[in-house]
Amino acid sequence: MLDLKGRIALVTGASRGIGYFTALELAKSGAHVIAVARTVGGLEELDDEIKAVGGTATLVPLDLADMKAIDALGGSIHERWGKLDVLVANAGMLGTIAPLGHTKAKDFEKVMTINVNATWRLMRTVEPLIKASDAGRGIFLSSGVAHSCKPFWGAYAASKAAIEAMARVWANELVNFGVRINNVNPGATRTAMRAQAVPGENPSTLPDPRDVAAKIVKLADPALTENGMLFDVRQDRFLAYRDPE
Ligand code: NDP
Repeated sequence: MLDLKGRIALVTGASRGIGYFTALELAKSGAHVIAVARTVGGLEELDDEIKAVGGTATLVPLDLADMKAIDALGGSIHERWGKLDVLVANAGMLGTIAPLGHTKAKDFEKVMTINVNATWRLMRTVEPLIKASDAGRGIFLSSGVAHSCKPFWGAYAASKAAIEAMARVWANELVNFGVRINNVNPGATRTAMRAQAVPGENPSTLPDPRDVAAKIVKLADPALTENGMLFDVRQDRFLAYRDPE
């Protein structure tokens, strides 16, 4: 198990699914977890589990549509801890599965707001804090559809491609500060989002989010050298992006 004692880790979408178990794994490794989501019940359940394993957490009930609240996060973390060691940008929404030409503007824009704009605002507000860490780590949850461009998953696929591009740019910008930033493709995982995306599927055939989280937390390792890459959970390995010729 990783030793993350004394490290501060922020996880968005920590109220359920992959984010919940990633937050729990980070806490088990000794990190203090800042857990962000809207559902207070889910955050409290996480807090109870973290306490039960001897860990600590700070709960931040927040809607990622509230850009001002995201902007204020950096200042609050600065006042209390002066740094951020790990950012797990995990929260996300699927939106409606529909042909691009039949997608309502408000639905497309909502997916972009939560998945893309909020992620960028979060990066911006924590940038000085992650630079202040001696080994800052950024972990961005993407999806295979960012590459497969599956029909009817347009808004979600576009939002995940944007997340990957932003994370790679940030990885290149912060590399000289000892920061390492990578994208993650978790693969199909037994969560509420997957059930919404593929309603007829038998969830027992899918990997457990606990197992997926156990692999994701390795990207928080202060000794990690990989940067600007895509970690594929299924294959349990990093994939390099191909630069244009
Ligand atoms: P879930 O739907 O189970 O959980 C999503 C999390 O995001 C919840 O904690 C939710 O919290 C939070 N969230 C959503 N909207 C907001 C908002 N407006 N403000 C604050 N928090 C919000 O998803 P998964 O665990 O399945 O997915 C986690 C990540 O992994 C996502 O980025 C997803 O795209 C990605 N992924 C998942 C796959 C899968 O098969 N499960 C496959 C590929 C990628 P709350 O509702 O409490 O606010």
